[in-house]
Amino acid sequence: MIIRNGSVVLKNGVEKKDILIENGKIVKIAENIPANGEKEIDAQGKHVFPGLIDMHVHLREPGFEKKEDIESGAKAAVKGGFTQVCCMPNTNPVVDNKVVVTYIKAREKEVNLCKIHPIGAITKGLKGEEMAGIAGMKKAGAVAISDDGVAVKNARLMRLAMEYAKGFDIKCLCHCEDKDLVDGGVVHEGLSATIAGLKGIPRAAEDVIIAREIALAETLDTSVHICHVSTYSGVRMIRDAKRAGVKVTAETCPHYYTFTDEIIRTYDTNTKVNPPIREEVDKQAILEGLKDGTLDCIVTDHAPHHADDKNVEYNNAAFGISGIETSFGFAITSLYKTGLLSLSEIADKMSYNPAQILGLDGGEIKEGGVADLMIADIDEKWTIDPEKFVSKGKNNPFKGYELSGVVKYTLVDGEIKYQA
Ligand SMILES: [Zn+2]
Repeated sequence: MIIRNGSVVLKNGVEKKDILIENGKIVKIAENIPANGEKEIDAQGKHVFPGLIDMHVHLREPGFEKKEDIESGAKAAVKGGFTQVCCMPNTNPVVDNKVVVTYIKAREKEVNLCKIHPIGAITKGLKGEEMAGIAGMKKAGAVAISDDGVAVKNARLMRLAMEYAKGFDIKCLCHCEDKDLVDGGVVHEGLSATIAGLKGIPRAAEDVIIAREIALAETLDTSVHICHVSTYSGVRMIRDAKRAGVKVTAETCPHYYTFTDEIIRTYDTNTKVNPPIREEVDKQAILEGLKDGTLDCIVTDHAPHHADDKNVEYNNAAFGISGIETSFGFAITSLYKTGLLSLSEIADKMSYNPAQILGLDGGEIKEGGVADLMIADIDEKWTIDPEKFVSKGKNNPFKGYELSGVVKYTLVDGEIKYQA
């Protein structure tokens, strides 16, 4: 196959080139590649990105197929421009042993859309009491470990987990949340919470665990990855730790770099997310963190829910936003069109860096590389309508918001898996 005349988003800039793909690999990137009977995609006026990699999604299978399953999640992923996703282990049963990892890898093959990498639990049943079988899970295909949804409460156990992770050469992804400080809070603790009469979650609930994980990583001289950073103070701690040589990496999500907690005043339960959307000062710090490299990755934390989980009183609603179909549009709209990041930098945050952190194949358009690609029109505008999502989760509070950036094709190993 040849992709013709696209503006190719390379590691260090955008160049107008053709891309020749053979046997799932990029074999040539050049101008005017002669035709030889191959299938061609006309990418004139469009941009060719490395396939996006989302290292933090919830596919809900096994156990919560009412919210999402591996097939519906994968369809949503390729529509969003993602060629690889890493799914969190808070399913039922929990991904805490090699059998569940093997099941997800079998479903990945059956569904045959994007690449799906299971993340194993740190502790059995996500209970924070006993270590899960990390070696077996890694052997079966797990690419990282995480108790996402909760923090490992016991710091000694977390230290042990990081030691194991170092020994097995697998990354530890940390959901940072001190439950005692959350104390039943549902939104960010601030003026909007007061006005809405909803109980707030202080920044410190997130920050104290970020600080703990950084301290443990430094003590053990090992690496650690901080999930969905939402506070200005968290960004500052990660920046300081990086400068001091601690091997910490971090991610954030579109809702934290685009919105503030004012949106909760509508009482729309789809704005309820964990950690909560915070204030302008946090949003600005996150944008700075993305710009200066403190925040390595943009993830969706795609958290699909059934309407039953959201059509309840705010306090009782489930946490989470269905966001895998809007993430690329938010990156183009909030980060590129504003002049904050170049397209190559966006590709770094949404593809190259996740691949580097987890040791995945892909993340870059280069000769000899895997042909995981995404073709998009970055100037085409569209309006978010969650009812049109292919994900089962319609729980997205940004209905009516206008974005730039439409995914036109998603190719995995050189095969078209999505076409607009
Ligand atoms: Zn989380």
